[in-house]
Order: sequence, then C-alpha cells, then structure tokens
Amino acid sequence: MTKPLLGCIADDFTGATDLASMLVRNGMRTVQLIGVPDARLAVPDADAVVVALKSRTAPVQQAVRDSLAALDWLRAAGCRQFFFKYCSTFDSTDEGNIGPVGEALMDALGSGFALACPAFPAKGRTVYQGHLFVGTALLNQSGMENRPLTPMRDANLVRVLGRQTRAPVGLVPFATVEQGAAAIRRALTALKEQGRRWAIVDAVTDAHLRAIGEAAAPHALVSGGSGLAIGLPDNFRRAGLLPPRTDPEALPDVQGLAAVIAGSCARTTQMQIGRARAHLPVLELDPLATPDADALARQATQWAAERLGTVPVVIAASALSDRVAALQARLGRDAAGALVEQALAGVAEALIRFGVRRLVVAGGETAEAVVTRLHVHSLRIGAEIDPGVPWTFAEGSFAPLLLALKSGNSGAPDFFLKAFAVLEGT
Ligand code: ADP
Repeated sequence: MTKPLLGCIADDFTGATDLASMLVRNGMRTVQLIGVPDARLAVPDADAVVVALKSRTAPVQQAVRDSLAALDWLRAAGCRQFFFKYCSTFDSTDEGNIGPVGEALMDALGSGFALACPAFPAKGRTVYQGHLFVGTALLNQSGMENRPLTPMRDANLVRVLGRQTRAPVGLVPFATVEQGAAAIRRALTALKEQGRRWAIVDAVTDAHLRAIGEAAAPHALVSGGSGLAIGLPDNFRRAGLLPPRTDPEALPDVQGLAAVIAGSCARTTQMQIGRARAHLPVLELDPLATPDADALARQATQWAAERLGTVPVVIAASALSDRVAALQARLGRDAAGALVEQALAGVAEALIRFGVRRLVVAGGETAEAVVTRLHVHSLRIGAEIDPGVPWTFAEGSFAPLLLALKSGNSGAPDFFLKAFAVLEGT
C-alpha cells in the first residue's frame, strides 16, 4: 500500500479524467474520486488522487468551499504536493473561479504563491508572452469568446487572472522558460519575493512543460491544465519517492456481460453507433413516442435481456436534431434532457443487476446521471481506449465494474468496438 504523493483538485469531471490519464501515462497509478470525498473513504492505493469537482461554473463561495474540503481530505491522505486543475482554455469569469479558489488553496497550504500554466501543446493550447492561443488563434478569437457560461474575451492571462484576484499576477516569459528549469525557478522565486502571488508561465512545447514541472518541485501548490502534469511525476522519481511502474494502467480483472449506453447526440457518437450497428445489436429508444423514463428503461432492459450474452449490446437515445427539438418543444429543454438521462441511468442500473460488468457510457451529462445512480465514488484509471478516454475500475454501491465514460465528441468512429477489444487485449 503506497500513500498518494500528488493530490489534485479538478474543477470538472472530464477534465479530471483527462488529468488522471495524463498522470497514468507518465507512470503514476491514479484514482479519480467523484465529488468531495467522504471523510470515511479509505485512501486508495495510488500514487496520485484526482478529486473531480463541479466547481468551474459554481458560485464562487461554493467552489472555494468544495475545493478546500477536497484539499483537507487529500492532505489527510498524505499527499505532498497539490495540483489545482482547470481547463486549458482557462474557462472562468471576472468573478472567478480560478483566482478565488487558487488563493484559498494557497492560504490553506501557507504557500503564498502558485504558478498558473494552462498550456497543453498536444491540444493546440499554448501560452506566449502571457497570451493563450487555441491553435493559431488568440483565445478571444477562437470561438471561446462565445462560450455560454464562461465567455473568454481576453487572451492576456495576466490581465484575466488579475481581474479575479486582489493578489498581483506576474509573468515568466518565453525567453526564461526556454532557458530551462533552473532559470524558471529563479524567476518564480524573484516574483514571489516581489510580492506576486501568481505567475502565469509561458509554454509552447512539452519540453517547456517538463522544465516548468521540474522548476515547481518544491512548490506546495501548482495550477494549470492537464499538460502541466507531464513534468510532475519525474520530480517524485528523482526524489526516490515514486518507484518505476511497469504497468500503471493495470486494472483488476472483471468478468461479466458488456453493454454500451449512449445519450449523446453529438455527430461523433452518432457515427460510433452507426459503425457498431454492423457488428452489435443496437436498440434506439424513442423518447418522443414514450416520454416516460421508467417505461423507456423497462423497454430497454427487456430488449437487452433477450440479447445479452456473447456480444455487447448498444442502447442509444441519441437522435438527430429534429427529434431532439421535437421532444424539447413538448417538454421543455431541461425536462427533455432529464427524462432521457434518467431513463438511461435506469437502464444502467438494470443492466448491472443483470450481470453487466463492462459498461461504456457516451455523453457527459449522461455519464454523470449514470455515475450518480450507481453511487460511484471512485474510478481507478486504466488504459486509454482513445486519447482522454480510459477504461476505469469503478467502485460504488454495487459489485465492482469496468466503466468507460466518454464525452459526446471524443473517440474514433470504431470506439465502441475498440473499447471491448482493448479489454480482451486484441
Ligand atoms: P454530450 O457529451 O454529447 O454533450 P450529453 O449526455 O452531455 O452528451 O448531453 C446530451 C443530452 O441530450 C442529454 O441531456 C440527453 O439526455 C439528451 N438527449 C439524448 N437523446 C435525446 C433525445 N432523443 N431527445 C431529447 N434529448 C435527448
């Protein structure tokens, strides 16, 4: 049993999984916890723990409260360094939540300072002279300026973060980052001595992220996107705290029936369902014909019971936009979404009772509804099926199961087939 070294607080669910996958890829066995962990929850046998909160767009006070509660748990679990994870597009508003949450964490840790680096070059997110780029566009010209809850209308992160906090924000510019870890560390120390509490750090390549990670070895708190995690595991290895892990993505073997539940209407998911249709039985639920969550769940369960066996079954509510619009017009937008989510959560519960132990769920909201219904509190992160979408070993109020949760737009067209092939090692 190892004590976790790195304790992470992520401001949303998919971001948490993304970070956890990054840590696994870099040799840390990682467990994701869902929501503020219960004080009685046993500390997982892992090198890193990522607490997935829903604090990105929550009211500031709640985001701060939840983040501090997560920090308390991670400290009690023995973590030595803490990572506040937010989106690589720095999703936030002038009220927060990155500034207030980061400062509350600094105060609780007594660290008085944190670097901030959302760069994720593999996804086209780079920071140059404090300005965040998405591909070749500045953040405020990338489409992110139109996000409904967190419109990003300024690409200058020193200014953006400065509006969220009373604490002065500094910059470690590209020229310093290019010189490597020692120069970055000197620059960070100098900024702290000048009274800055934050430093935006430029990064354009993975090599920059590695150097920043190395420079941050003595920092109690770091903050940024998943990319920043590239450089942190090496610090623990250098310090002799993290042994080489030959198989950090290994999950306990779980045998049982297999199924896919899809509630995303995204084009990618529609394509994945289409591709699966040639190989697997697919049921398309029609919530417009049966606008009743329990009745839909019963239909699906009966259908699945007759087919589950040697091949996985696919149950989808996914529909083209005209059908979705028709249900929304009839019930209202939120009620339409909730109806389908509750139906699919009911299907998940019934399938598990029936012996399904390998479950793929497509759709962010859908996954959340399923995880809530199954009272899942922890996910051990396994091998990725496609980038950012790992198999996980889920624990909750039922026998353990393997769960793969993908947001609507992620995964290759053959994702559903590939997911089960990965488990069989084929
Ligand atoms: P994504 O990750 O693609 O955004 P989500 O699961 O987060 O997927 O969101 C899809 C939403 O669409 C969910 O609220 C789901 O319940 C809803 N939905 C799915 N199928 C239908 C349908 N046939 N009619 C109306 N709403 C639907």
